[in-house]
Amino acid sequence: MPRLTKKLSIGKSYINSPFYIKYGVPVLLLALVTLFKLWLAIIIGKKIAFMLYFGVVIIVSRYFGSRPAIVTSIIALFIGNYLFIAPYYTITLGKVELTQDALFILECSLIIGLSSALASAIKRVQTADRLFKALIEKSAEGIIMVNADGQTTYCSPAIEDILGYTAEEFLSFESWSLMHNDEKLDVKEEFYRLAGHPGKTIILQHRMKHKNNSWVWIESKTTNLLAEPAVNAIISNFSNITARITLEKQREDFIGVASHELKTPITSLKAYTQVLRARFKSNPDTTSYSIAKKMDQQVNHITRMITSLLDITTLQTGQLNLNITEFDINKITLEIIELAQQTTINHTIKASLTEINQITADKERIGQVITNFISNAIKYSPQGLEIQVTSEIKGRDLVFSVTDHGLGVSEKEQDKIFERFYRIDSSKNTFQGLGLGLYICMQIIKLHQGQIGVSSEEGKGSTFWFSLPLSAINAL
Ligand code: ADP
Repeated sequence: MPRLTKKLSIGKSYINSPFYIKYGVPVLLLALVTLFKLWLAIIIGKKIAFMLYFGVVIIVSRYFGSRPAIVTSIIALFIGNYLFIAPYYTITLGKVELTQDALFILECSLIIGLSSALASAIKRVQTADRLFKALIEKSAEGIIMVNADGQTTYCSPAIEDILGYTAEEFLSFESWSLMHNDEKLDVKEEFYRLAGHPGKTIILQHRMKHKNNSWVWIESKTTNLLAEPAVNAIISNFSNITARITLEKQREDFIGVASHELKTPITSLKAYTQVLRARFKSNPDTTSYSIAKKMDQQVNHITRMITSLLDITTLQTGQLNLNITEFDINKITLEIIELAQQTTINHTIKASLTEINQITADKERIGQVITNFISNAIKYSPQGLEIQVTSEIKGRDLVFSVTDHGLGVSEKEQDKIFERFYRIDSSKNTFQGLGLGLYICMQIIKLHQGQIGVSSEEGKGSTFWFSLPLSAINAL
């Protein structure tokens, strides 16, 4: 198993050994040291009271703990006094001897105190180390550490559940060899960009090859901690999201098939409703006409929803192709405004359009964006008032905007409303919708190499805008 942390090198400890070892070994050491001191006294002709006994106390407190060390100090005190302080072979308790004894005991206490503080600090670090390793190594998420050269230096055991390889096997591979070719380049690029930004985090989704040769979808959250001295690595947490991706794919396939199948009957229904509407128009029975009109409006509503769902499917499969032609954007804007004005009596839609009107773009799709902006402006300003449609040339861009005085969008939701299926909570129950319109608008504008956005104040109204680079449009 590759090591996550270096082993704390503190050597062995015999604190938990049996009584006779814990106390026997110190006594033996004292006896040996005493014999050595007696021999030394003969050689040098001088007796030094507590010399070398400190060493024994240090060793005993290090390996056998505080209690044997206290006992050792007391025995050493008596032997030192008895054998090495004149008059010899008697315990002398004069002023000088007592001072020497007291100093010896004081120094031994300091040694024992320090030793025991060190032992408990080491124990705490070891416990934290074990807890940390247990958390990392037993986690269902895989964790890898990569050094500044891009080499994987650690891999947690969870890799075996995710990719079938043991951590050792995984570390023996070249880092990118298991990655799917379709995503490899992008992931590599993102990774190397991350390596240059300490503290940055990226979230990626990509496929990796399982030991059984199947492809596993991985979601990884990778953080650059190279600048943190204690870590000095890029850390990646990852999990297997294959089940989620499969479900999403099934859901998208279902939406695609269902909306495609619904399109044909709805088109017929629309045609029949229009026939009914036309027939009842000249009929004295005004109720029937009014019902047919409402039916027609509801069919329009369903048609819009189905079109949105079909667009989403087309976008997801990357099949939304633009049909670029040159057209008069002012003309289609005015047509859309006219149709939209018919749907509301509470709003007045005003237009102030630039004189440069010929653009090269996808007429249907740009019309779809304009329609969506205007119908949202009507829908989300229920109190009525004016809606202003503006287009102008700013630099090399055509900027188109729709301003309403409705509900507005708070700052924190202004980016989110362009996401798929996102709807503001407060409008969910009051207004019908799927939360797809703005997402589709954004994709259409992006395909035209333009920009899209909103500036808004909650409760006061919004300006939804898009810009199309005139040169790029012409070059498309
Ligand atoms: P839908 O209108 O179907 O919900 P959209 O994608 O068009 O989907 O809009 C997403 C959300 O953005 C809406 O649910 C609404 O909350 C908010 N929104 C869009 N246009 C406006 C607007 N003009 N004023 C206030 N909120 C808006």
